[in-house]
Amino acid sequence: MLFDPVMYMEDHSAWTDPPGLTIRVPALNTQVLERVGANSVFRAIAENKVLRLTVSADSHPDKAIVVLANIAIAAYVDQDAVIDDLPSAIRYLAINASARLEDYWVADDSLWSKAGNRTVSLPDVVAGQKSAILQGRASVFNTPLTQEDLVCYSDQEIKHFAFSPNRFLLSRKFIHMALCGLCQRQIARWIEYVINAKERLFSERKPDLPQA
Ligand SMILES: [Zn+2]
Repeated sequence: MLFDPVMYMEDHSAWTDPPGLTIRVPALNTQVLERVGANSVFRAIAENKVLRLTVSADSHPDKAIVVLANIAIAAYVDQDAVIDDLPSAIRYLAINASARLEDYWVADDSLWSKAGNRTVSLPDVVAGQKSAILQGRASVFNTPLTQEDLVCYSDQEIKHFAFSPNRFLLSRKFIHMALCGLCQRQIARWIEYVINAKERLFSERKPDLPQA
């Protein structure tokens, strides 16, 4: 249902870039609408869609439509939109999720190009959580942070945890994992090693299978 031109169709860097950065994504239909003329085809399609959704939204609770619009805002990472009433929720959904406007864009994307990109800042949620834990503003599973949680895993522990994740979960040392990128990378390397070793073992065993 959600339509964000270009992003869903291209290999956009937004899918793979690390968190904590600013990206540029195409303008949303609601932003394009602010720029088009009163008699434009774009506006005619958009207003028609708003009317139609206003009619069909009648059979749904107002609150559900407002919640849906806010989900759409989050999905678009639209950091400017504020929606708290039914009419604005209907407008937002109708215009940004319009299949007819999507067809319009496929045929001629010049309006979107002219509207320019929008800039989206993606906070590094993991880093934010980490500093919140370190400053005692947040906790992991309601467990207070201890001095031991700040100590890196030993080589032995790293291997232990990579080979048997259940030991890691039972070890009471799992908070450090959320805090330490170094230990995360080392364990990830070992897990990859384990997976590769298993695959190698499997492919070497294959010839032993009974032949038909
Ligand atoms: Zn560490």
